[in-house]
Amino acid sequence: MSSVVHFWNTEVLSIFYFYSFFLGRIDSCFTSGVPLCRSPSSIYKGKQPCERRSSYALLKQSRGSVVGACSCCAGLTVAMEVKHLGGWQRPLLLASTLILVSIVYGETLTTQLRQFRSASSAALDTRWKKITGFFGNDDFYLYVCGIVLSIQIPFWSGGLLFMFLDYYNWPRWTRKYKLQPGTHEPVDLNRLKETIKVVLINQWSVSVPILIFSYFLKKITNTMPVFHELPSLQRFFIDFLIFIIVDEIGLYYVHRLMHHPKLYARVHKKHHEWPAPIAITFVYSTRMEFILNMIPVVLGPMLTNPHLFTLWAWYAFVHLRGLKNHSGYDIPGLTSSEEHNYHHMMSNACFSRSPVLDWLHGTDKGFRAYMARKELEKKG
Ligand SMILES: [Zn+2]
Ligand SMILES: [Zn+2]
Repeated sequence: MSSVVHFWNTEVLSIFYFYSFFLGRIDSCFTSGVPLCRSPSSIYKGKQPCERRSSYALLKQSRGSVVGACSCCAGLTVAMEVKHLGGWQRPLLLASTLILVSIVYGETLTTQLRQFRSASSAALDTRWKKITGFFGNDDFYLYVCGIVLSIQIPFWSGGLLFMFLDYYNWPRWTRKYKLQPGTHEPVDLNRLKETIKVVLINQWSVSVPILIFSYFLKKITNTMPVFHELPSLQRFFIDFLIFIIVDEIGLYYVHRLMHHPKLYARVHKKHHEWPAPIAITFVYSTRMEFILNMIPVVLGPMLTNPHLFTLWAWYAFVHLRGLKNHSGYDIPGLTSSEEHNYHHMMSNACFSRSPVLDWLHGTDKGFRAYMARKELEKKG
């Protein structure tokens, strides 16, 4: 019994979240999408049911099963089973497995996790102290130069990589991930030079002065981020989650505002000069747009005043995400860039980074129809 109580401490609760996510993923493999063809009464004479997850035309649907025309079985009508672990079954399965795991492994798991955590956090603390030592433990260098580097290093490493792909059109296998095949193969060198120039102007003549100004503001208001000890993992993730939510909501409305006819031509049209964007066009904009786009990004950190390390990680994340969303590639293993790619193509839909607010405001209707068409074309 003591192991069950032990199980519910903070460390193992994090395992719970990962585990439930993992289980949810396994479960969804079996329930979402296309059902398995298992018809015992298949009229596909002398053969077993195909047992493949194939496309089918729905004929009849009842609880637990569907009847459809399976494309694998040469279009013959077969019954297909769908095992839905919906309603109360999924949480019950999850809870019973967790209780079982907690009884058997709870104590061992907790001890091992605690040991691992203290060993790894000591190693990380030492490394962090070396980094702050490199900046002479001076808050000006840590804040201003640290943030500049946390933006410049990921942005230009990723940006140069995508420029290489777009300019040399190589390696060839990357072509199959292009969202708008045939565009920028290769990218026009003069346009590329012009874009790099605008990006550098925005980054160095707008971003850096604002950063220096914010440093002095933080000194005056005594809100300089702490940097001596690394933040706890919980604090880091909570801050990050707040930044993502605030940024998501802020960006949607700022972006929609920039599409207002009175503002569009003066503020946002420049960014839309690339209907098929390339990675670094993330920062290709007028200076006014660049400043407006900064608001949702800095609003979260202004609300929570995070640790300096969290701040560096956030700015690096924002720039890598921006590169990915504008890259024009659907990078395997990462979230899709289709939404923002569609926004550049059509200009009047998909204003946010995640689909939530677009779905809520109905600004994703055209996009969903576009994706359905794309899926049909892929099938053939
Ligand atoms: Zn864009
Ligand atoms: Zn736009």
